[in-house]
Amino acid sequence: MKKNTKTQKKKLKNFNPKLKEECGVFGISNIKEASTLTALGLHALQHRGQEGCGIVTFDGLKYHLEKRFGLVGDNFNKEKVLKKLPGNFAIGHNRYSTTGENTLRNIQPFFADTNAGGIGISHNGNLTNSISLRKKLVEDGAIFYTTSDTETIVQLIARSKRAKTIDKIVDAIFQIQGGYALVMLTQTSLIGVRDPYGIRPLVIGKLKNSYVLASETCALDIIGAKFVREVENGEIVLIENDQLKSIKPFPPKKIRPCVFEYIYFARPDSVLNCKTAYEHRKNLGAELAKENKTEADIVVPVPDSGNAAALGFAQFLNKKFELGLVRNHYVGRTFIEPSQQIRSLGVKLKLNANKSAIKDKKIILVDDSLVRGTTSHKIVKMLYDAGAKEVHVKIACPEIRYPDFYGVDTPTKKELLAANKNNDEICEYIGAKSLSFLSIDGMYKAVGFENRNQNYPQLTDHYFTGDYPVKPIDELGDSKITQLSLLSTASNN
Ligand code: AMP
Repeated sequence: MKKNTKTQKKKLKNFNPKLKEECGVFGISNIKEASTLTALGLHALQHRGQEGCGIVTFDGLKYHLEKRFGLVGDNFNKEKVLKKLPGNFAIGHNRYSTTGENTLRNIQPFFADTNAGGIGISHNGNLTNSISLRKKLVEDGAIFYTTSDTETIVQLIARSKRAKTIDKIVDAIFQIQGGYALVMLTQTSLIGVRDPYGIRPLVIGKLKNSYVLASETCALDIIGAKFVREVENGEIVLIENDQLKSIKPFPPKKIRPCVFEYIYFARPDSVLNCKTAYEHRKNLGAELAKENKTEADIVVPVPDSGNAAALGFAQFLNKKFELGLVRNHYVGRTFIEPSQQIRSLGVKLKLNANKSAIKDKKIILVDDSLVRGTTSHKIVKMLYDAGAKEVHVKIACPEIRYPDFYGVDTPTKKELLAANKNNDEICEYIGAKSLSFLSIDGMYKAVGFENRNQNYPQLTDHYFTGDYPVKPIDELGDSKITQLSLLSTASNN
């Protein structure tokens, strides 16, 4: 008994109800081997989440659901598993979460039976009002099975008084706020939804006559599907009988996609606003080089996140580009989650200095971003230990001073280095000879704008500016429901 209470307390302490999910979503309609194609799509989106994965299919009569911990390639690679997922309609999900409950229940897609029929749902993003909505739903008698904000959407859909599923969905999305991309499967349709600002990405593809929905275009490439267009901000796409219907229930807004997709998150070969993330990142590196001229012998990327920016930097200044750090590709990102202690270890597990390239050299070290400074701190020391003469750190985005609430994993303001230290102090902390960040306007220029429109910024850029397009209501609100859900989930484990 005593032991149980202790375990429960520990679970409560470690439990974070606001799961920070970056996640990848995928869906495909009316095609043979839909589950295998979905597994391939999820495999291409693996960088968006490695904690768990799942697929829901519909075979015309019944739904089938398989969820697993770990990587897609380790779980959905065998006929035995894929045979359990028959049907020509499928959706899938890759889950990422740094903290919070690591239970099978939180792995998506979620499935619910409503009075209009079954519905499967995959969600990328984070709702900013899910705790307050959850509180109201619980007061109204709802019973929650998971700690994920996605279940709030499921509950809202199930409780809608409207008759048709699509109307129930519209009902639900009018109540939720935040950054989200949803892919849903009903008995008759595949449905995609993107939040009113288009913070989280969602694209439409076509494979023969079948429509495909995915977080990024790299998931279309892997199955040979053609990129059709992005789901627009605030748009619902309803795919039925190989026809796509667009529904726009919200008052129109200009799109403000998350700039971090450009900087770090999207796979380099994915297309964002007509250019690959690779091209955008090279431009970020080139802008950084324009703004910060430093004498050095070589440019070295932090692999893999800084590769494209470092290449852009080196090419712009016509400097030598060297692979001064070697990455162990057999270490997944799972190794560097979730605690700070393991994160620090992770850098050593993952990277090693390439002495032959850096000894006695003045180095410009380029990374895409600096968050807590753990990576830079370790790498700079590693390079000096390996014989580097000087290490100048260049970061291909501005100083991250504000946390995210729309689905990207960022720590609290307290842990964000640039929120608490000035440039000299950060430089001292990471042990570099000098440190430079890209300016905000430089960042806008690099991804295709003249500069930042102060009245209506073209991107969701709160990391650097504190300008949150959607108010983080749960952050400002009361935490009663947090306690409630926390107790019920911890004791159910
Ligand atoms: P830090 O070591 O905390 O300063 O984090 C910076 C490193 O983490 C960089 O190499 C980035 O590529 C990487 N990074 C940036 N954002 C994220 C994120 N949301 N999740 C995981 N890694 C990230």
